[in-house]
Amino acid sequence: MSSQLHAHPSSIPSQILYTLLTPITVPSQRARFTNWGQTFHCTPLAIFEPENEFQCELILELARREGKVVRAVGVGHSPSDLACTNGFMLRTTKMNRVLEVNAEKRYVVAQGGITLHELHIELAKSNLAMMNVGSISDQTLAGIITTATHGSGIGYGVMSTHVMSLTLLLADGSRASCSLNERSELFIATLCGLGATGIILSVQMEVEPAYRLKEYQESLPFDEVVSNFDRLVYSAEHVRFWWFPTADIIRCSYADRTTEPKKPAGSWLWHSFLGYHVVQLLLFLGRFFLFLNPWIANFACWLISNKSIGVDDGHHIFNVDCRYPQHTTEWAIPYENAEACLRDLRFWLAAEHEDPHGLRPHFPIEIRFSAPDEIFLSPSNGHRTCWLGIVQYKPYGFNVPYRKLFDGYERIVSRHGGRPHWAKAHRLSPNTLRQLYPAFDDFTRVLENVDPFGMFRNEYVQRHIMGRPIDVRIFKKRQL
Ligand SMILES: Cc1cc2nc3c(=O)[nH]c(=O)nc-3n(C[C@H](O)[C@H](O)[C@H](O)COP(=O)(O)OP(=O)(O)OC[C@H]3O[C@@H](n4cnc5c(N)ncnc54)[C@H](O)[C@@H]3O)c2cc1C
Repeated sequence: MSSQLHAHPSSIPSQILYTLLTPITVPSQRARFTNWGQTFHCTPLAIFEPENEFQCELILELARREGKVVRAVGVGHSPSDLACTNGFMLRTTKMNRVLEVNAEKRYVVAQGGITLHELHIELAKSNLAMMNVGSISDQTLAGIITTATHGSGIGYGVMSTHVMSLTLLLADGSRASCSLNERSELFIATLCGLGATGIILSVQMEVEPAYRLKEYQESLPFDEVVSNFDRLVYSAEHVRFWWFPTADIIRCSYADRTTEPKKPAGSWLWHSFLGYHVVQLLLFLGRFFLFLNPWIANFACWLISNKSIGVDDGHHIFNVDCRYPQHTTEWAIPYENAEACLRDLRFWLAAEHEDPHGLRPHFPIEIRFSAPDEIFLSPSNGHRTCWLGIVQYKPYGFNVPYRKLFDGYERIVSRHGGRPHWAKAHRLSPNTLRQLYPAFDDFTRVLENVDPFGMFRNEYVQRHIMGRPIDVRIFKKRQL
C-alpha cells in the first residue's frame, strides 16, 4: 500500500482508498456536529480529520466517485447552518501549521485550519501580529476568510482584505494558487466564498509589527452617541459600541496603537462571579419571568458602567468574553444609514418595552464598523459599513424566545439596506441577495466554473446561493 501514498488519487482502487481514509475517519458514534452556539446539528455521512494535503485529495476523490458533497469545517463557530452537511465533512483543525513567516515583507503563510489563537502565538515569536481581529480568536483562519469576518475600525476592511494569496484544492482534485494577479476572480470569490469555491489549503496574509492597543471605555446616553456619531466613530483606530436599549446607554470603546507598557483593565464586576454566574442565573430566571429581562439588562449595564483604560497586546483588546451559547444575528448596513437605523430600532424597542405584551429581549446590541472593499459577497462590498449584531443568550444552554425579536430587527435593518452576515442565520433568497450584491452573479459564475457539479455546495449554499427549496430548519433539533 505504501506505493499508493505516491499514486494519483484517481488511480487508487476504491478498496485501498477506504483503507487509506480509515485512520482519519471519526468513529461513527462520534460523527455528529453541533455548532458553538448549540443552535444547529447534523450527522454527516462521515467526518474526516485530514492531517495533510494528500489526505484532503483522497477525500475529494472518494466524494467524486460516490457523488457526495464535501463541506470543510473549522471549529464550527458559525451561528447558522453554514458548516452543516448531510454529506462528507472535512474537519481542518489538524491542518494548522505556519508554513512561512516573513518579518521583512510583513506576511505569514499558514494552513487554513490554524486557529487565530495559534496564529497569534506563532506571529508573536517573530514580533508580528494580525492587523485587525474580531471579538474572539477561536476561529480558524479559513473560517474567518470564507465568511468575511470583521473586527471594528472604520479604516479597516473585513479580515479577508488582508489576504494576499490563497492555495485551494478544487473540486476536480487540482490545486490552484490565486491572488489579485493570478486567477483573480477565483481569489475574490474565495475571500468570502462560504466554503463553496474549494478547500482552502493555505493562506498568505499581510501582518504588521506586533503592537499594543490602548483602549478607553465609557458609557454614554444613546442620544449623545448618535448625535455625535461621526466624531466618535472616527475618534480612534478601532471604535465599537454596545447598546443597552432598556437603559438607553451605549458603552463605547475606543482603541489606538500605543507604545505604553501593558496595563490590562477589565471591569472586575463584569468578569467576576457576579458578572458571569449571577447574570447567567438571572438570564435563566428571565426565561420563565420575561418581565425580569429589562432589569437584568440594566444590571449588566451598571456592572460595566465605570470608565476604564487598559493597555494590552492588540488581540487581547480586540477579543471580548462572548459568554454563553446564544442565538445571534448580525447585519451590515451602509454607514450613512446608521444613525437613522439606530433611531428606528430604538423607537421599535421602546414601543415593545411600553407594551405589556411586548418583547423582553436580552442585551446588548453590538455596533461595529468596517471600510469598503470589492469582494463579491462581502457585506462591506462597495461602501463603508456599520454592523449591528444582536444576541439572545441561552443560559446553561436552555432555549429562549428569539424569532419575533429577530424578525422585527431584520425588517428594520432591511429597510436601511441591510445585508446579513453570512455566518449568521438569515432567510434571504438569491433574488433578494442579487439586489443587495452587485457582484452576486460574478460569484455564482465562479462557482459554476470551478465546481460545475456542486461538490462544495452544502444545504446552506444550495438554499441561499442556488435557490433550492431547502428548509431553514433542516438542521434544527425541532423541525417546526
Ligand atoms: C462567539 C462568537 C464570536 C464571533 N465574533 C465574530 C466577530 O467578531 N466578527 C465576525 O465577523 N464574526 C464573528 N463570529 C463569526 C465567526 O467568525 C465565523 O462564523 C467564522 O466562520 C467561524 O470560523 P470557524 O473556524 O468556526 O468556521 P466554521 O463555522 O467551522 O465554518 C465557516 C465556513 O468556513 C468554511 N471553511 C472552513 N474551513 C475551510 C477551508 N479550509 N476551506 C474552505 N472553506 C472552509 C466552511 O465551509 C463554512 O462555510 C463569531 C462567532 C461566534 C460564535
